[in-house]
Amino acid sequence: MFENAAVRGELVDISETWREVQARHDYPAPVQRLLGEMLAAAALLSANLKFNGAIVMQIHGDGPVRLLVVECDSQLHLRATAKLAPDAVIGNDLDLRGLLNAHGHGRFVITLDPKDKMPGQQPYQGIVPLDGDSIAEIIENYMLRSEQLDTRLWLAADATVSRGLLLQKLPQEGGIEASVANDLETWNCTVMLASTLKHDELLATDIDTLMKRLFWEETIRLFEPQHPVFHCSCSREKVGNMLKMLGRTEIDSALADLGKLGIDCDFCGQHYEFDGVDCAQLFATDMAGEGLQSPGQLKH
Ligand SMILES: [Zn+2]
Repeated sequence: MFENAAVRGELVDISETWREVQARHDYPAPVQRLLGEMLAAAALLSANLKFNGAIVMQIHGDGPVRLLVVECDSQLHLRATAKLAPDAVIGNDLDLRGLLNAHGHGRFVITLDPKDKMPGQQPYQGIVPLDGDSIAEIIENYMLRSEQLDTRLWLAADATVSRGLLLQKLPQEGGIEASVANDLETWNCTVMLASTLKHDELLATDIDTLMKRLFWEETIRLFEPQHPVFHCSCSREKVGNMLKMLGRTEIDSALADLGKLGIDCDFCGQHYEFDGVDCAQLFATDMAGEGLQSPGQLKH
């Protein structure tokens, strides 16, 4: 927090978590950069979460990259995955537009999903067109439009490093003219300083050094650092629920073709298998009136 001004900042180095994500996937360098930057952004934005739950950021693309997903919960458990088009050719020179918004149909989706929902409560979801040439710009535009918060992000990622900086102008309380002017001055000054930060410098410099380099002239109050970790929340039960949603007819026909069903988690690669007996059990609990029912399975 900047003393005497309604401006706050965050720095994140999430490289270790990022390497854990990548140990499970093999993405081309341009995809690595985008997904790594999204991971840093999710960790930075999770501090805005005012509930126990998760923030999920998705970019649905219409180019060679079809989907980027990053999740971060209140415990700073993170996971991420990317889906490429089956015939994707990804040259190193492709930028964000070329990868995700080739035909202008790319979408950015933010979901805020509280853990303990009231009955019938839906997660909050905001969907906007992809507006920007970088992950940082897309999120900044979203924050300005939906939260009316001036937020600036500087993000950088490669194969081994993922780092980010966030600055946010907090809403004015009271609105004394002198303090409004002071807030604006601090905001402009810190944004200008941070804007001198180049992508390669952010990749090469640890966050303690960055903090000193950028804000040595400011009086700031530091908070205890928090520690993000890679964690996948997939489970056999959740995969079973997903199969139930598909409905008995669908599952029976897949079983007839394949003998058993194999499902790999897109995030962590964990393999789950369901044979005929397992699937019968899934739907048996439905008959007893427990668990989820797909509309096709309702009995009267
Ligand atoms: Zn998983």
